[in-house]
Amino acid sequence: MYIPEEIKFLQKLKQLFLVRNNLEALPEGLCQLKNLKILDIAGNVIQIFPQGEITARFIIRELEENNPFLMNAIECHPEAREKISQAKQCAICKKPFLSEWLECVQFVSPSKNWKISKNLQLIPLQILLCSYQCFDQRGPDLFEIAQE
Ligand SMILES: [Zn+2]
Repeated sequence: MYIPEEIKFLQKLKQLFLVRNNLEALPEGLCQLKNLKILDIAGNVIQIFPQGEITARFIIRELEENNPFLMNAIECHPEAREKISQAKQCAICKKPFLSEWLECVQFVSPSKNWKISKNLQLIPLQILLCSYQCFDQRGPDLFEIAQE
């Protein structure tokens, strides 16, 4: 059994329960459901997960909330587990992400607690952002986030 791609038009969908439906694959359209918070796919025979960064971010967020079904699913997919273990965190929105990211350098004044040479005025810090939306939101805040 398959879910039609048209599921992507259900933009207000928040919960999707597909328990024991003999599903073999999840549609790519799932990636476009930005309001989807609960995806229960226990007891299916899913071999194919949709490709893509958005799915990966969705799965990582669910795993952080200890979604038991996804934690089981990820046990059976070592390559997915490996990928997810490399997830990074966005410095602005704090959401996890995998491969699409912006690397920035922020020059900050060293904290007095840091054991570094006194002549150093500014220290470059590597900052990773998940998207250009977050890049646009960077501001004076970034300075404090970077020092934590
Ligand atoms: Zn972000």
